[in-house]
Amino acid sequence: MQYDYDLVASVDAEVFDRYRVPDDVLARHYTVSDRDDVRKIERLLDAQEGSLDAGGPYYLKAGQCACCGRSLTMYDFVFTALVDANHPKSFVYQILVGDKKIIQSPRRVRCATCGTPSSQKAQYFMGQYACEDNT
Ligand SMILES: [Zn+2]
Repeated sequence: MQYDYDLVASVDAEVFDRYRVPDDVLARHYTVSDRDDVRKIERLLDAQEGSLDAGGPYYLKAGQCACCGRSLTMYDFVFTALVDANHPKSFVYQILVGDKKIIQSPRRVRCATCGTPSSQKAQYFMGQYACEDNT
């Protein structure tokens, strides 16, 4: 993916809907970012408090960190995007709350607490950003 938001491909709302994860699956298998987690993501991205609420709720299916046991969330996903993929903060921020509907492949997530990368790629679902593998 390009780091320039202008070059990021967007899909129509109808297409994006096909990648929507059913509520019962989200509830059973995904970890949703609570209010504190979203505030942490905002601080990580140098964004105003509350400004990421528009793009939520933020769901990640990465289970627990194999090393420290903490449930991985979108905070770890964003941390990984900055640290491993070297994405600019402003780019990640715009992905989350910009006007484009984006479909991407599953991603590996690094635990922000202990630094351990997940062994399996994680699925995710949020307002403007969905995973192509939504099974
Ligand atoms: Zn960990």
